[in-house]
Amino acid sequence: MNTLAEAVVDLEAIAGNVRAITSVTGTDLMAVVKADGFGHGAVQVARAALRAGATWLGVTSAAEALTLRAAGVTAPTLSWLHRPTDDFGKLINAGVDVGVSTTTHLHSVVDAAHLLGVPAMVQLKADTGLSRNGAAGDDWPELVGWARKYEREGGIRVRGVWSHLIDADLPGTPELNRQVATFEEALRIARSAGLDPDLVHLANSAAALSAPRTRFDLCRIGIALYGVDPFGASGPGEFGLQAAMTLRTSVVNVKRVPAGTGVSYGPEHVTDAPTTLALLPLGYADGLPRVTGGRAAVWLGGRRCPIVGRIAMDQCVVDAGDLPVTIGDPVVVFGPGEGDQNPPTVVEWARWADTNPHEILTGIGPRVARDHLHERARIS
Ligand SMILES: *Cc1c(COP(=O)(O)O)cnc(C)c1O
Repeated sequence: MNTLAEAVVDLEAIAGNVRAITSVTGTDLMAVVKADGFGHGAVQVARAALRAGATWLGVTSAAEALTLRAAGVTAPTLSWLHRPTDDFGKLINAGVDVGVSTTTHLHSVVDAAHLLGVPAMVQLKADTGLSRNGAAGDDWPELVGWARKYEREGGIRVRGVWSHLIDADLPGTPELNRQVATFEEALRIARSAGLDPDLVHLANSAAALSAPRTRFDLCRIGIALYGVDPFGASGPGEFGLQAAMTLRTSVVNVKRVPAGTGVSYGPEHVTDAPTTLALLPLGYADGLPRVTGGRAAVWLGGRRCPIVGRIAMDQCVVDAGDLPVTIGDPVVVFGPGEGDQNPPTVVEWARWADTNPHEILTGIGPRVARDHLHERARIS
């Protein structure tokens, strides 16, 4: 193995999380595997989630959907962010549902379907308050009207109606209730126009686990699938989710230094006592946020050791104190676990970086090898 670090992904943890979540929601589960499965490997995560009972896959782009199909993953898949110039014919041929938010996109999808002589499977998205994608206000009845006309003509089938929540970690807030009401009204408009969607969905991880009214037919699960508690717990949290990724490396250089030694660029850190410095071959190009220098810690020698000085593109320095560290010693940057007597978690890294765990996970760079545990025969 010649990579400098590995993200070890435990696919049994993914499978266990699918089971834990569906036991709470009692609905179908869409495994959201966008951004290469939040950095865990979209194809491997998709297969593990499907084996554990997920029935749908969700991705952002047509390219991501086609990557799943090219790997032989045939499960129902929804792709939801497109340019109107995208090659929708490829999605239709691949049996991928197209999330549609504007009439501009709808016309393009129908053109592609006409060329192929096959109806496109469409899921219409309403904007219920996020002001991103989805149709809001008068645009919704207009989109629904066109969709119904095209459905009658055989160009499309409207399989789903859906939306996305603004911030679902606060169940029972007036904002959540208002969004659910807006969604139900959008659904009523769609049905009264003659649409009959099989699949109605609104919830992401946080809503699915905490707000039953948002569950409808299916929940779109991202962060919880990867074992991160959507309510901010650093460990498994109340739903017993298991973090799937362990980011690890090993020490590539060690030096004993006196007090007053500058460390890394600047230097922004100068040792205040004799200590042992351990060099790690991971930097911001690999996804360690540069702002976490001086804040973050890693697991080395059975202890948490702080990263000191500036994190560079390719490397960073850890203060190991008086630990007997040697070259080759294993290091866990983050992994499952909880508490100071364990390796840090991705939730702690997100706090150190003033961001969310999603950004840490999706920021793990391409130089870090993904090793999948429990990857079984290629079924699905
Ligand atoms: C990313 C995404 C999700 C998953 O959200 P989590 O909070 O990670 O569960 C669900 N739906 C849509 C539309 C998304 O873009």
